[in-house]
Amino acid sequence: MAQRLIVIGGDAAGMAAASQARRRRGRDDLEIVAFERGHFTSYSACGIPYWISGVVKERDQLIARDPATFRDEFDIDVRLRTEVTGIDLGRREVVARDLDRGGQLRERFDTLVYATGALPVRPDWADDGVAGVFGMQTLDDGAALREWLDAEPRPRRAVVVGGGYIGVELAEALIRRGLTVTLVEQGEQPMSTVDPDMGALAADAMRTVGIDVRTGVEVTGVEERDGRVSAVVTADGPMPADVVVLGLGVRPNTTLAGAAGLPLGPSGGVRVDRRMRVPGVPDVWAAGDCVETLHRVSGLPVHIPLGTHANKQGRIVGINIGGGYATFPGVVGTAVTKVCDVQVGRTGLRERDASASGFEFVSVIAESTNRAGYHPGAEPMTIKLIAERPTGRLLGAQIVGRCEAAKRIDVLAVALWNGMTVDEMTALDLGYAPPYAPVWDPVLVAARKAVDVLAESGR
Ligand SMILES: Cc1cc2nc3c(=O)[nH]c(=O)nc-3n(C[C@H](O)[C@H](O)[C@H](O)COP(=O)(O)OP(=O)(O)OC[C@H]3O[C@@H](n4cnc5c(N)ncnc54)[C@H](O)[C@@H]3O)c2cc1C
Repeated sequence: MAQRLIVIGGDAAGMAAASQARRRRGRDDLEIVAFERGHFTSYSACGIPYWISGVVKERDQLIARDPATFRDEFDIDVRLRTEVTGIDLGRREVVARDLDRGGQLRERFDTLVYATGALPVRPDWADDGVAGVFGMQTLDDGAALREWLDAEPRPRRAVVVGGGYIGVELAEALIRRGLTVTLVEQGEQPMSTVDPDMGALAADAMRTVGIDVRTGVEVTGVEERDGRVSAVVTADGPMPADVVVLGLGVRPNTTLAGAAGLPLGPSGGVRVDRRMRVPGVPDVWAAGDCVETLHRVSGLPVHIPLGTHANKQGRIVGINIGGGYATFPGVVGTAVTKVCDVQVGRTGLRERDASASGFEFVSVIAESTNRAGYHPGAEPMTIKLIAERPTGRLLGAQIVGRCEAAKRIDVLAVALWNGMTVDEMTALDLGYAPPYAPVWDPVLVAARKAVDVLAESGR
């Protein structure tokens, strides 16, 4: 008899696992059922801001594979609008609810993949039943926001609460749609995934495109008129809003996992071993935004919810379930984003992470340009490097700039991954031609500066 694989969560991690398992095991050997509580499978949440803005024209462009494709080409039975409400490890069953027709079902599994993603942080005031307040995690969330923006009366004033990358990308989307946008950030600067000095550069850039960035301000509630949001409440007074978007970060969606007794780690994510198995629970695997992973620089377990990890981890789960052998080696925390034409890249540890991990370090900031200074289109770029003292090992890097600036972080991520020192980096053989870089690439300029600062610090 065929074994039965049940997948909870029909997006990046879950469906990567399911399709990879199917590539390796035929229908007679493995039956695969995937439960997804939303309306879509295998969609790009990362593309939602660009669909909201109109840069991406059609919602369906964000969908890589729909349930019919999974059924016809992969023999995977996807059950949309079906929410798993419990996992019974003793009976090897999941309990699920049909969200459209009602009713409960129980389904047996031999192997389980837990891939429920993350949940946007929602303060209590966001759930007061006032229409026009949106979290942003799934394509259903994106569709709900678009519907609100397109309906009459057309919203004109938006407040984005929280300046993480999702908030920043949605601020851009809303300003592109012609709304006036205020971004309210409780911390010192938006983009807290970089150090405040680099976040300040991003904030300045946002202001130049017309986003009203308010820092050090907490939103404590919303005001309504006729059941629709009319303002957010802050200590600085009310800020008018016809639409409010939450960008307060996410937390791993572990409600079911916790209730079933799956082990959770210090970051709050489901614990997994290198093969993405849940330790101590036979034939249960987990992947994506719901798990924690190893940070290769700090050596600590972290929750870094990104599509790039979810896809890789899901694939690894599928290879292992399919009878192969694959491991996930951890992350260095590389991420890129943009707001209008300003780009932000980061990898490794920020100053506060390096301090918390007990490293001694120096930080340098180097100004350069993306092309030879005389070449048309040359734009300034700021790179920050954090290097261990006295070894010179790179610990982290951040970039703010325009025109192809952010993807330069990949060179730094590779250096970090391989434990290079800033000394070694000064000799890197990077490509040069005036339309692509100055003769000293910005990465080399920053590495040289870090070497000088380390020497001055008496290493
Ligand atoms: C606006 C936005 C922009 C982003 N941009 C980027 C980017 O540029 N780069 C990047 O790397 N990452 C980006 N991300 C993050 C990326 O989208 C996620 O890391 C990725 O989608 C995680 O995949 P996942 O499968 O783990 O979780 P999810 O994509 O969250 O999928 C989990 C699925 O499980 C379903 N589910 C949850 N609980 C249940 C249940 N009990 N029963 C049934 N179904 C359930 C959910 O409906 C959901 O569809 C972005 C995210 C957002 C929201």
